[in-house]
Amino acid sequence: MMKIGFNKPYLTGNEAKYIIDAVSSGKISGNGKYTQLCQQFFEQKYGFGKCLLTTSCTDALEMAAILINIKPDDEVIIPSYTFVSTANAFVLRGAKIIFADSNEQNPNIDTSKLESLITSKTKAIVPVHYAGTACDMDTIMELANRYNLFVIEDAAQAVDSFYTGKDGVKKALGSIGHLAAFSFHETKNIISGEGGMLTINDLQFANRAEIIWEKGTNRSAFFRGEIDKYGWVDIGSSFLPSEIIAAFLWAQIEHLEEIQEKRKQIWNHYYEGLLEISLNQNFKLPQIPDFATNNAHMFYLVFESLDERNKCIHKLKENNTNAVFHYLSLHKSPFYEGKYEGEELFWANHYSDRLLRLPFYYELDTDKIDFIIDILKK
Ligand SMILES: *Cc1c(COP(=O)(O)O)cnc(C)c1O
Repeated sequence: MMKIGFNKPYLTGNEAKYIIDAVSSGKISGNGKYTQLCQQFFEQKYGFGKCLLTTSCTDALEMAAILINIKPDDEVIIPSYTFVSTANAFVLRGAKIIFADSNEQNPNIDTSKLESLITSKTKAIVPVHYAGTACDMDTIMELANRYNLFVIEDAAQAVDSFYTGKDGVKKALGSIGHLAAFSFHETKNIISGEGGMLTINDLQFANRAEIIWEKGTNRSAFFRGEIDKYGWVDIGSSFLPSEIIAAFLWAQIEHLEEIQEKRKQIWNHYYEGLLEISLNQNFKLPQIPDFATNNAHMFYLVFESLDERNKCIHKLKENNTNAVFHYLSLHKSPFYEGKYEGEELFWANHYSDRLLRLPFYYELDTDKIDFIIDILKK
């Protein structure tokens, strides 16, 4: 019987070749040729101010928290329905997390209730572009400007996805906030095993970002010949990946268009195959607002109840198919137990209990998708 896993990392074919090239060049630590190639690609293609590869999106978020000088008692607003790293990066610096609810339409942060969460202590808003679908960025940026807050986009899932604002200008996700964080974890659209990137759109942060990235030293400026010795000038950590990881990522970037094309085909096949059934069945299909594009990061269903979702997971498992649920609201997590003081977050809890992600990867062929659609029909 056919067995369908949830994820399968896709290799373009050049990963090993570029890794060998990096190794044989004698430069395998960070910030070499492949790192530069990757960073320049993103800066040029998507209009990001400045890009720095990191060892993960988690690291990029931690850099962002350092850059905006998060101090104990500062408040940071994030959606409850997200990955732990969105919160941890700020918790590590002593911030208080203010959890926001999701929308009815999709799991992204509900901007209609955002203003009521802002206090004199609020320092930043961290919108998460869930499934690569843009948040309502006009509202978020307008509030941030009015209250003098930083916006850090958690764009972990949002490579090659766009937002069109009221001004009609189409902007890449990750180019709108002051800072943004991407992930190249093996479950994302393009990958390097573990890996990530910080994008710096507010260039007041550019120099300091490079220092924090290089363990708190001005080594990058030294290697460019701008200063004649380097030393300890700030706090920092080892946030930059080795050239081995950057070489892997470069092989992926070279095939980005083809990967995106294929993933969109898979997404559309699911959507078209399930559209009619979803009208009579107990689940809904993903909804993408007019201002957003679809980068086909994942395909999810939203069931009417936890019970219905569990039945479906079980049925798929009986047919050797691994579908998985996603986040559990962070305000209800064991780490936060007893600490949450806000109101109950209806939609965050709704998606915690009801959202199901279907198998999604480059090599998922039409036969397998049709097989999954058939099970869902039943
Ligand atoms: C994957 C993911 C992260 C973490 O990315 P890493 O590269 O594994 O650190 C953070 N936030 C969101 C929304 C993610 O999907």
